[in-house]
Amino acid sequence: MHKTVFITGASRGIGRATALRFAMDGWRVGIGYHTSDAEARALIAALAELGTMATAVRGDVASAEDAVRMVQETRTALGHIDVLINNAGIAHTALFTDTDYAAWRRLFTVNVDGAYHCTEAVLPDMISRRSGVILNVSSIWGLVGASCEVAYSASKAALIGFTKALAKEVGPSGIRVNCIAPGVIDTDMNAALNHEARAELAEQTPLCRLGSAEEVAEVLLFLASDAASFITGQVLSPNGGLVV
Ligand code: NAD
Repeated sequence: MHKTVFITGASRGIGRATALRFAMDGWRVGIGYHTSDAEARALIAALAELGTMATAVRGDVASAEDAVRMVQETRTALGHIDVLINNAGIAHTALFTDTDYAAWRRLFTVNVDGAYHCTEAVLPDMISRRSGVILNVSSIWGLVGASCEVAYSASKAALIGFTKALAKEVGPSGIRVNCIAPGVIDTDMNAALNHEARAELAEQTPLCRLGSAEEVAEVLLFLASDAASFITGQVLSPNGGLVV
């Protein structure tokens, strides 16, 4: 039987690669996207070519209303949601002393509140079916902290606490909640890094390179699958061995 995954922030990067990987594995795929209609349409076409049922829903995860609507529209198109991947996120690089409260709030509103709203929208149905998986995309910086990314690191650390606590709460209802904390991945989020900064990050990584979105997608697929049926409340960090 086909299962359905709903992935937020899926028009590009890790979300896009994950949508394609799940489709290759026979899943029905709901993609949430923020503003990029053309990219979302292109992804839906690519998913259709893989022979999967897919739908794209536009919305801002920072809005509770949008999150509820995106989940409802996905269910209408594809049936109940078996797996939610809270992938949508934004970064902010600045000294803490140059990070104003508005920037701090924006990071938390998208990265943390976004996961809250989408989780709140899918959970009641998962609880009544006594089945479901929630995967949160944190970051290695949420584990160890990054200089000049205090707000980002704090928001990603919040997702780790959210994962661990929720896993305890909903485990008895048959729902698994896990988190990934990727190292440096070659996506648009790091597009602003210059050549030297990328080389330095690659050098700090024992596998001597940045990771790919496809490598992260494999980890998400594993955690969503029955192969991970006894894994909950965990943080898995695909990071090329980066320990900082
Ligand atoms: P990306 O910038 O390509 O993707 C982020 C996605 O989130 C985009 O599709 C964007 O449209 C979407 N998004 C942003 N704000 C949104 C909002 N308010 N509502 C809905 N969607 C919104 O970067 P990525 O690397 O693919 O990032 C995916 C996730 O992985 C993010 O949560 C990011 O923090 C996390 N991550 C990335 C790296 C990395 O090095 N690239 C490392 C660790 C974790």
